[in-house]
Amino acid sequence: MWKGVVTFLSFGKFMGGFFFHGWGGDGREEQLLEYVLENAERGNPQSVIQAVDEFARSGTWFMNVGEEKGRILDSSIAKKNPQLVLELGTYCGYSAVRMAANLKHPDSKLISLELTPHIADIARRIIDHAGLSSKVEVLLAPLSRQIDTIKSTLAKTNGQCFDFVFVDHDKDLYLPDYLLLKEKGLIDEGSVIFADNMGFPGSPKFWSYIQSHPQELETEVHKSAVEYISWIRDTVTVSTFHKL
Ligand code: MG
Repeated sequence: MWKGVVTFLSFGKFMGGFFFHGWGGDGREEQLLEYVLENAERGNPQSVIQAVDEFARSGTWFMNVGEEKGRILDSSIAKKNPQLVLELGTYCGYSAVRMAANLKHPDSKLISLELTPHIADIARRIIDHAGLSSKVEVLLAPLSRQIDTIKSTLAKTNGQCFDFVFVDHDKDLYLPDYLLLKEKGLIDEGSVIFADNMGFPGSPKFWSYIQSHPQELETEVHKSAVEYISWIRDTVTVSTFHKL
Protein backbone atom coordinates (compact mmCIF):
# COMPACT_ATOMS: atom_id res chain seq x y z
CA MET A 1 0.00 0.00 0.00
CA TRP A 2 2.67 2.51 1.03
CA LYS A 3 4.71 1.64 -2.08
CA GLY A 4 1.69 2.53 -4.22
CA VAL A 5 1.41 5.90 -2.49
CA VAL A 6 5.16 6.56 -2.84
CA THR A 7 5.01 5.58 -6.53
CA PHE A 8 2.05 7.89 -7.08
CA LEU A 9 3.87 10.79 -5.38
CA SER A 10 6.90 10.01 -7.57
CA PHE A 11 4.61 10.01 -10.62
CA GLY A 12 3.37 13.49 -9.61
CA LYS A 13 6.91 14.74 -9.15
CA PHE A 14 7.89 13.31 -12.54
CA MET A 15 4.97 15.08 -14.21
CA GLY A 16 6.10 18.38 -12.67
CA GLY A 17 9.63 17.87 -14.02
CA PHE A 18 8.36 16.64 -17.37
CA PHE A 19 6.38 19.84 -17.84
CA PHE A 20 9.58 21.90 -17.65
CA HIS A 21 12.24 19.58 -19.05
CA GLY A 22 10.61 16.79 -21.07
CA TRP A 23 12.00 14.20 -18.62
CA GLY A 24 12.01 13.74 -14.83
CA GLY A 25 14.82 16.26 -14.28
CA ASP A 26 15.38 15.14 -10.68
CA GLY A 27 18.19 12.65 -11.31
CA ARG A 28 15.97 9.57 -11.50
CA GLU A 29 17.15 8.62 -15.00
CA GLU A 30 20.81 8.69 -13.87
CA GLN A 31 19.86 6.61 -10.80
CA LEU A 32 18.13 4.10 -13.07
CA LEU A 33 21.26 3.75 -15.22
CA GLU A 34 23.38 3.19 -12.12
CA TYR A 35 20.90 0.59 -10.82
CA VAL A 36 20.86 -1.29 -14.13
CA LEU A 37 24.66 -1.30 -14.44
CA GLU A 38 24.99 -2.61 -10.90
CA ASN A 39 22.15 -5.11 -10.84
CA ALA A 40 21.44 -6.43 -14.33
CA GLU A 41 23.52 -9.13 -15.94
CA ARG A 42 25.53 -7.73 -18.86
CA GLY A 43 24.37 -9.05 -22.23
CA ASN A 44 21.05 -10.27 -20.81
CA PRO A 45 18.06 -8.19 -22.01
CA GLN A 46 15.60 -9.94 -19.69
CA SER A 47 17.79 -9.12 -16.72
CA VAL A 48 17.91 -5.46 -17.80
CA ILE A 49 14.11 -5.30 -18.22
CA GLN A 50 13.67 -6.94 -14.83
CA ALA A 51 16.06 -4.48 -13.18
CA VAL A 52 14.26 -1.46 -14.66
CA ASP A 53 10.87 -2.81 -13.55
CA GLU A 54 12.23 -3.55 -10.06
CA PHE A 55 13.60 -0.02 -9.74
CA ALA A 56 10.36 1.53 -11.02
CA ARG A 57 8.26 -0.62 -8.66
CA SER A 58 10.41 0.35 -5.69
CA GLY A 59 8.86 3.81 -5.57
CA THR A 60 10.47 5.83 -8.38
CA TRP A 61 8.03 6.06 -11.24
CA PHE A 62 9.24 5.91 -14.87
CA MET A 63 7.38 6.51 -18.11
CA ASN A 64 8.44 3.16 -19.58
CA VAL A 65 5.83 1.11 -21.37
CA GLY A 66 6.08 -1.13 -18.30
CA GLU A 67 5.23 -4.75 -17.65
CA GLU A 68 1.53 -5.04 -18.51
CA LYS A 69 1.56 -3.00 -21.74
CA GLY A 70 5.03 -4.41 -22.43
CA ARG A 71 3.54 -7.89 -22.71
CA ILE A 72 1.09 -6.60 -25.36
CA LEU A 73 4.08 -5.06 -27.17
CA ASP A 74 5.99 -8.38 -26.94
CA SER A 75 3.13 -10.33 -28.49
CA SER A 76 2.60 -7.74 -31.26
CA ILE A 77 6.29 -7.94 -32.16
CA ALA A 78 6.20 -11.75 -32.09
CA LYS A 79 3.11 -11.80 -34.31
CA LYS A 80 4.54 -9.38 -36.90
CA ASN A 81 8.15 -10.67 -36.75
CA PRO A 82 9.42 -7.35 -38.21
CA GLN A 83 12.77 -6.73 -39.82
CA LEU A 84 12.72 -2.95 -39.45
CA VAL A 85 11.27 -1.20 -36.44
CA LEU A 86 10.92 2.51 -35.66
CA GLU A 87 10.41 3.79 -32.14
CA LEU A 88 9.23 7.36 -31.57
CA GLY A 89 10.28 8.26 -28.01
CA THR A 90 13.28 6.31 -26.65
CA TYR A 91 13.37 7.74 -23.12
CA CYS A 92 15.65 5.40 -21.11
CA GLY A 93 15.57 2.56 -23.64
CA TYR A 94 13.28 0.15 -21.79
CA SER A 95 10.94 -0.50 -24.73
CA ALA A 96 13.87 -0.52 -27.18
CA VAL A 97 15.46 -3.34 -25.15
CA ARG A 98 12.11 -5.09 -24.89
CA MET A 99 11.48 -4.92 -28.65
CA ALA A 100 15.05 -5.61 -29.81
CA ALA A 101 15.26 -8.69 -27.55
CA ASN A 102 12.24 -10.09 -29.40
CA LEU A 103 13.44 -9.36 -32.94
CA LYS A 104 14.02 -12.75 -34.53
CA HIS A 105 14.60 -11.66 -38.13
CA PRO A 106 18.33 -12.16 -38.95
CA ASP A 107 18.72 -8.62 -40.39
CA SER A 108 16.50 -6.84 -37.91
CA LYS A 109 17.15 -3.25 -36.92
CA LEU A 110 15.45 -0.84 -34.55
CA ILE A 111 15.80 2.91 -35.04
CA SER A 112 14.70 4.88 -32.01
CA LEU A 113 14.24 8.66 -31.86
CA GLU A 114 14.83 10.74 -28.74
CA LEU A 115 14.87 14.53 -28.39
CA THR A 116 17.08 14.96 -25.33
CA PRO A 117 20.83 14.24 -25.79
CA HIS A 118 21.64 13.17 -22.23
CA ILE A 119 18.55 10.95 -22.03
CA ALA A 120 19.62 9.38 -25.35
CA ASP A 121 23.06 8.72 -23.79
CA ILE A 122 21.46 6.96 -20.83
CA ALA A 123 19.33 4.87 -23.21
CA ARG A 124 22.38 3.93 -25.31
CA ARG A 125 24.24 2.75 -22.20
CA ILE A 126 21.26 0.68 -21.02
CA ILE A 127 20.83 -0.82 -24.52
CA ASP A 128 24.57 -1.56 -24.62
CA HIS A 129 24.40 -3.25 -21.20
CA ALA A 130 21.62 -5.45 -22.58
CA GLY A 131 23.97 -6.44 -25.44
CA LEU A 132 21.71 -4.95 -28.10
CA SER A 133 23.77 -2.04 -29.47
CA SER A 134 24.27 -3.71 -32.83
CA LYS A 135 20.52 -3.95 -33.38
CA VAL A 136 19.47 -0.55 -32.03
CA GLU A 137 20.37 2.92 -33.24
CA VAL A 138 19.26 5.88 -31.14
CA LEU A 139 18.97 9.08 -33.19
CA LEU A 140 18.44 12.60 -31.88
CA ALA A 141 15.88 15.13 -33.09
CA PRO A 142 12.25 14.79 -34.15
CA LEU A 143 11.10 12.54 -36.97
CA SER A 144 10.53 15.50 -39.28
CA ARG A 145 14.28 16.31 -39.17
CA GLN A 146 15.52 12.72 -39.47
CA ILE A 147 13.79 11.54 -42.63
CA ASP A 148 16.95 11.57 -44.80
CA THR A 149 19.10 9.87 -42.12
CA ILE A 150 16.41 7.24 -41.62
CA LYS A 151 16.12 6.59 -45.35
CA SER A 152 19.87 6.11 -45.71
CA THR A 153 19.99 3.83 -42.63
CA LEU A 154 17.18 1.74 -44.10
CA ALA A 155 18.95 1.59 -47.47
CA LYS A 156 21.99 0.04 -45.74
CA THR A 157 19.77 -2.81 -44.54
CA ASN A 158 18.21 -3.15 -48.02
CA GLY A 159 14.96 -1.90 -46.58
CA GLN A 160 12.75 0.98 -47.60
CA CYS A 161 10.13 1.14 -44.91
CA PHE A 162 9.29 0.04 -41.38
CA ASP A 163 7.33 -3.12 -40.66
CA PHE A 164 6.55 -1.98 -37.13
CA VAL A 165 6.32 1.48 -35.53
CA PHE A 166 6.09 1.99 -31.77
CA VAL A 167 4.61 5.43 -31.08
CA ASP A 168 5.28 6.66 -27.54
CA HIS A 169 6.43 10.31 -27.74
CA ASP A 170 4.70 13.70 -27.63
CA LYS A 171 0.98 12.89 -27.79
CA ASP A 172 0.37 15.92 -30.06
CA LEU A 173 2.79 14.41 -32.60
CA TYR A 174 1.14 10.99 -32.92
CA LEU A 175 -1.05 12.05 -35.83
CA PRO A 176 1.36 14.39 -37.70
CA ASP A 177 4.20 11.86 -37.42
CA TYR A 178 1.97 9.01 -38.61
CA LEU A 179 0.90 11.15 -41.60
CA LEU A 180 4.57 12.01 -42.28
CA LEU A 181 5.55 8.30 -42.28
CA LYS A 182 2.74 7.64 -44.72
CA GLU A 183 3.61 10.60 -46.97
CA LYS A 184 7.32 9.71 -47.07
CA GLY A 185 6.65 6.05 -47.86
CA LEU A 186 8.26 4.89 -44.60
CA ILE A 187 5.34 2.54 -43.90
CA ASP A 188 3.78 0.12 -46.37
CA GLU A 189 0.91 -2.34 -46.70
CA GLY A 190 0.74 -4.41 -43.51
CA SER A 191 3.02 -2.20 -41.40
CA VAL A 192 1.93 -2.21 -37.76
CA ILE A 193 1.50 1.03 -35.80
CA PHE A 194 1.52 0.36 -32.05
CA ALA A 195 0.48 3.44 -30.05
CA ASP A 196 1.00 3.68 -26.29
CA ASN A 197 -0.93 5.99 -23.94
CA MET A 198 -4.06 6.23 -26.05
CA GLY A 199 -6.11 6.13 -22.84
CA PHE A 200 -3.85 8.15 -20.56
CA PRO A 201 -2.94 10.88 -21.24
CA GLY A 202 -4.42 10.13 -24.66
CA SER A 203 -3.89 11.45 -28.16
CA PRO A 204 -7.38 12.66 -29.18
CA LYS A 205 -6.47 13.62 -32.76
CA PHE A 206 -4.84 10.27 -33.55
CA TRP A 207 -7.71 8.44 -31.83
CA SER A 208 -10.23 10.31 -33.92
CA TYR A 209 -8.20 9.61 -37.11
CA ILE A 210 -8.16 5.88 -36.30
CA GLN A 211 -11.89 5.91 -35.74
CA SER A 212 -12.62 7.81 -38.94
CA HIS A 213 -10.25 5.71 -41.12
CA PRO A 214 -11.05 2.09 -40.21
CA GLN A 215 -10.05 0.77 -43.64
CA GLU A 216 -6.68 2.52 -43.62
CA LEU A 217 -5.89 1.61 -40.01
CA GLU A 218 -7.38 -1.73 -39.02
CA THR A 219 -7.13 -1.41 -35.27
CA GLU A 220 -7.22 -3.60 -32.19
CA VAL A 221 -7.80 -1.76 -28.92
CA HIS A 222 -6.22 -3.21 -25.77
CA LYS A 223 -7.37 -1.96 -22.39
CA SER A 224 -4.56 -1.85 -19.87
CA ALA A 225 -3.14 0.28 -17.06
CA VAL A 226 -0.57 3.05 -16.78
CA GLU A 227 2.90 1.67 -16.13
CA TYR A 228 3.51 0.83 -12.46
CA ILE A 229 0.14 2.37 -11.35
CA SER A 230 -2.54 -0.25 -11.86
CA TRP A 231 -5.52 1.92 -10.90
CA ILE A 232 -4.99 4.52 -13.66
CA ARG A 233 -6.41 2.93 -16.76
CA ASP A 234 -4.70 3.23 -20.13
CA THR A 235 -5.26 1.86 -23.63
CA VAL A 236 -2.90 0.84 -26.41
CA THR A 237 -3.90 0.56 -30.04
CA VAL A 238 -2.37 -1.85 -32.52
CA SER A 239 -3.18 -0.81 -36.08
CA THR A 240 -2.38 -2.54 -39.35
CA PHE A 241 -1.82 -0.01 -42.14
CA HIS A 242 -3.52 -0.60 -45.48
CA LYS A 243 -2.58 1.34 -48.59
CA LEU A 244 -5.83 2.53 -50.13
MG1 MG B 1 4.26 5.66 -22.95
